[in-house]
Amino acid sequence: MPKKQRESDVCPNCGTKVDKPIKTWNLVSPLPDSYGRITITVMGSYECPNCGHRWRAVVSKIRAGGSEVEVEGKKGVKKFGESKNQDKQDEGEIIELDLGDLDEEE
Ligand SMILES: [Zn+2]
Repeated sequence: MPKKQRESDVCPNCGTKVDKPIKTWNLVSPLPDSYGRITITVMGSYECPNCGHRWRAVVSKIRAGGSEVEVEGKKGVKKFGESKNQDKQDEGEIIELDLGDLDEEE
């Protein structure tokens, strides 16, 4: 049976769901993966409006390399660049992140 994933935007202290992180930053992996892509991990700093607890969690992961950018969020993996036939709104440089329930430690 599937292991329940702890949501990164839910307070680990009292369980209150937080709209969005108060701060996000990127962690860039210095080593490319097997496809020659760089992995950028988007971290978020959350503060619970209910109990004031603060925590950090992985918001999303981005893999960039060549002409393609891959964003890993809670809805799966999204690709930008060469294969952008599905989402016309994703053209250009803007990458919209899914703020969600990723909780992947490496
Ligand atoms: Zn809380």
